[in-house]
Amino acid sequence: MFETGTGVGGTWYWNRYPGARFNSESWTYGYSFSQELLDEWNWEEHFAGQPETERYLNYVADKFDLRRDIRLKSRVTAAHYQEETRSWDLTMEDGRRYRTRLLITAAGVLSAATMPRIAGVGTFLGQSCHTHYWPKPVSFQGKRVAVIGTGATGVQTITEVAKTAGHLTVFQRTPQCCAPLHNAKIGKDEMSRIRGNNPEIFARCQETYGCFIHATDPRATHEVTQEEREAFWEKLCGAPGFGIWMGNFRGILVDRAANKLISDFLARKIRQRVKDPAVAEKLIPKNHGFGTRRVPLESGFYEVYNQPDVKPVDISETPIDRITPTGIKTSDCEYEFDLIVYATGFDAITGAFDRIDIRGVGGVSLKDKWRDGPQTFLGILVDGFPNMLMVMGPHAGLGNFPRALEYTADWVTGLIRFAHGRALTRVEATAASAVAWTEHVIESSEGLLFTEVDSWMTGISRNVDGKQVRRIMRYSGGHPAFRKRCDAVTADGYRELTLD
Ligand SMILES: Cc1cc2nc3c(=O)[nH]c(=O)nc-3n(C[C@H](O)[C@H](O)[C@H](O)COP(=O)(O)OP(=O)(O)OC[C@H]3O[C@@H](n4cnc5c(N)ncnc54)[C@H](O)[C@@H]3O)c2cc1C
Repeated sequence: MFETGTGVGGTWYWNRYPGARFNSESWTYGYSFSQELLDEWNWEEHFAGQPETERYLNYVADKFDLRRDIRLKSRVTAAHYQEETRSWDLTMEDGRRYRTRLLITAAGVLSAATMPRIAGVGTFLGQSCHTHYWPKPVSFQGKRVAVIGTGATGVQTITEVAKTAGHLTVFQRTPQCCAPLHNAKIGKDEMSRIRGNNPEIFARCQETYGCFIHATDPRATHEVTQEEREAFWEKLCGAPGFGIWMGNFRGILVDRAANKLISDFLARKIRQRVKDPAVAEKLIPKNHGFGTRRVPLESGFYEVYNQPDVKPVDISETPIDRITPTGIKTSDCEYEFDLIVYATGFDAITGAFDRIDIRGVGGVSLKDKWRDGPQTFLGILVDGFPNMLMVMGPHAGLGNFPRALEYTADWVTGLIRFAHGRALTRVEATAASAVAWTEHVIESSEGLLFTEVDSWMTGISRNVDGKQVRRIMRYSGGHPAFRKRCDAVTADGYRELTLD
């Protein structure tokens, strides 16, 4: 295992920004494969913060003696397939080289951080940090702080920074429709109860669309009266986690009228919480409906804007001209700061692949092959790239990650066992199977409102060349359907692959 970082934990090693924490319930996120691990680990909070999750992942690495197989500070810069030996040649950033029969990618969907394309970023003389590359505890005490970006990470950062900053200016391009997180500590007795329910919890996560504990309500929004509807939404808003997104009425992310009703309901909540009506309007999304972008969960985010020392700047109205040595210049004003925080997100889903020079049969580059959108079989294999197996690559279903990736890891392991058992040295998706799966992935998203919105879920990043056109990046058919399809491929003896 090669890892760029100096420690294990992936997302939870890198993202040390203030306020970084789960939006998944901790006890649904931990691994399920080891009863011993489940018995030993006690989650402290329903939605663990970054330090707790990093501790957990280190505990896992130690418990299963994984460190002897991990090379830290090892960034893979190139992976070239060699047909003669049916193997992959890897090159590291420091020039080291390795040869391997199988290349398994687990490089993350949100691991290639992006800086905004704003002139003068390098000229600022104060301190600046990207949330993904958070250096070490940073003090905001009394400082003039800018945060650029208001996605899920920005929302968490802003809420925390506002507690101590002298003055906070938030540069917002697209407001998000956030929902309350309702985090709480987990006491000893509660942890015992959770542990006792583990089998039911994991079984339920396997049944739901996104592997979360929250299952879609079978009723449609219009099947109930307005009173029932509002009461249900109040209940969801008062409950922890993604229930309001994943446990809402069916059709809320398909039916435009239903989506408008829930969006209006949540807009009313924002207006109730933000005292200045003009500020409240700035914080209400106008160009997308609730749930059509990744919903940030918040803990007091809207109240931050009631503080006299917090100012939102709508950069769709007054764009940032440039970063200056002393701060930020917009089209109508020049601001001075001690610290600039870039909560500007990621080159999502394909970014980590694009940052490696991956070449398959005949030297074809994966980046070129995916120029008009990813093409995969099951989100795991790519035709023309034999012996490369992706865990949570493009076309995987997004959701509660470990629940989904444990399945994929098992499927990949099953394929490797199958290949070893038959002394196969070459495993590849056929072009026909990749085309069929890619078409199915596209079909599965038809009618879903998120496809009409610019976001990392539709492959848009203003900060990345070639990511200005909407594409279907993930499978929208839900995890139960995904598993059924993968199981069918196994049961059929992998006949949709070319095995040699
Ligand atoms: C702030 C934040 C909060 C999140 N919250 C949730 C949540 O609540 N629930 C949820 O389900 N998901 C959440 N996610 C998604 C999260 O990424 C996944 O839950 C999970 O961490 C994915 O694990 P992974 O191992 O696939 O990828 P990652 O955790 O991203 O790990 C990938 C690793 O690959 C390494 N890497 C990449 N390229 C190379 C290379 N070329 N050479 C060597 N190493 C490389 C990276 O350094 C990284 O450590 C969140 C993501 C972020 C950024």
